[in-house]
Amino acid sequence: MSTSVMTPSYRLEQRRRIAGTFPGPNSAALEARRAAVVPKGVASSVPVYAADADGGIIVDVDGNAFIDLGSGIAVTSVGASDPAVVAAVQEQVAHFTHTCFMVTPYEGYVAVAERLAAVTPGDFEKRTVLFNSGAEAVENAVKIARSATGRNAVVAFDHAYHGRTNLTMGLTAKAMPYKTGFGPFAPEIYRMPMSYPFREENPNISGAEAADRAILAIEKQIGADQLAALLIEPIQGEGGFIVPAEGFLPRLAEWAQANGVVFIADEVQSGFCRTGEWFAVQHEGVVPDLITMAKGIAGGMPLSAVTGRAELLDAVHPGGLGGTYGGNPVACAAALAAMDTMESQDLAGRARHIEELVLPRLRALAVEGGGVGDVRGRGAMLAMEFVRPGAKEPDAETAKAVAAACLREGVIVLTCGTYGNVIRLLPPLTIGDDLLLDALDVLETAVLSLG
Ligand SMILES: *Cc1c(COP(=O)(O)O)cnc(C)c1O
Repeated sequence: MSTSVMTPSYRLEQRRRIAGTFPGPNSAALEARRAAVVPKGVASSVPVYAADADGGIIVDVDGNAFIDLGSGIAVTSVGASDPAVVAAVQEQVAHFTHTCFMVTPYEGYVAVAERLAAVTPGDFEKRTVLFNSGAEAVENAVKIARSATGRNAVVAFDHAYHGRTNLTMGLTAKAMPYKTGFGPFAPEIYRMPMSYPFREENPNISGAEAADRAILAIEKQIGADQLAALLIEPIQGEGGFIVPAEGFLPRLAEWAQANGVVFIADEVQSGFCRTGEWFAVQHEGVVPDLITMAKGIAGGMPLSAVTGRAELLDAVHPGGLGGTYGGNPVACAAALAAMDTMESQDLAGRARHIEELVLPRLRALAVEGGGVGDVRGRGAMLAMEFVRPGAKEPDAETAKAVAAACLREGVIVLTCGTYGNVIRLLPPLTIGDDLLLDALDVLETAVLSLG
């Protein structure tokens, strides 16, 4: 690994710029075309259409430049047009776009598997299988765990988000908008209490005690010997950037190992340097049996992966895993380049630097009895939870109003949370300090005037 840290170079000017009317006429025209052909079930957070994006900036079709604090939901961690990713994609696409790895295999797939074996935690032999989306990775991790253990039950947690396919909807906690009207869901899914420090009834409950609360429920309601897998996001994403109390994940992992239960870390949102480590489980030294990955893995190209213990993945019969597009060669080339950028630019270090810049600013907004009830997160995965002043009652309206106020000033921020009352920050890890500080000023002004 190189010792000199490269600074990113940008193709687009890294400056916020809102011109005249907003959204502009070109975005408005696209919105009208869209309404005639795209269903309302597909919703967008922002009413402008992208024309170009680079570093921390998204330029819309009317020439407005927005600071991107969402990265397309934690996807473009290396930026939306990282030169290394662009070059790798162009090179691969000029040779072949697809052969299907199950028909005519190619090196890129194998190289991604080698790379993931190296960057994921765990000093044991690993195997990797590639897919297209996070939901597909989670589905397949469950298939692998069931096949390897001969058991059926799967545990997921309160506030969990694992995707929108039938099995992953069942694993996801929140009904509206993800599940309502879309059932019936797959059986043998059990939901257990999460460690959510800000909303614990007993504020002094330790992480290990919160884990024991879940473990006791599992043993009574399911039976450890019936349980194939315990599936958990080490930092919950859509559920509200919930960081479990220290000790929660290690205790669950230890119990899983003692009981022959496959511990699956869903790192689809928290992986790939986002939290200041390659994977969020590393903050507590937890080594999962299987890790699901997607989002940040390939610089914006659709790719997902399940990496884990060789004996688990090899337990599946030949031909039992796959898919037409899984591990597409263009996506694999992008992933290798994105991982190169993560290493050469030390993006895990960048994520820790972003935390140092942003977290104190957010903490300063969380005054006693105010509207910002909690500030949390790790690295460049940070959030504020809004509550009614003087209470813990969730305040989704203020979270939405703050996001809307930021957008009007040219800063894209996303909301999340079971109660919809969380503002989450997921900037590209390549964003420059000046741009980030400008966005923080906008966010601060919005919170102070609305919160
Ligand atoms: C986004 C997400 C998924 C689903 O990924 P898709 O690519 O949208 O299918 C699964 N798990 C977590 C933790 C996620 O954040």
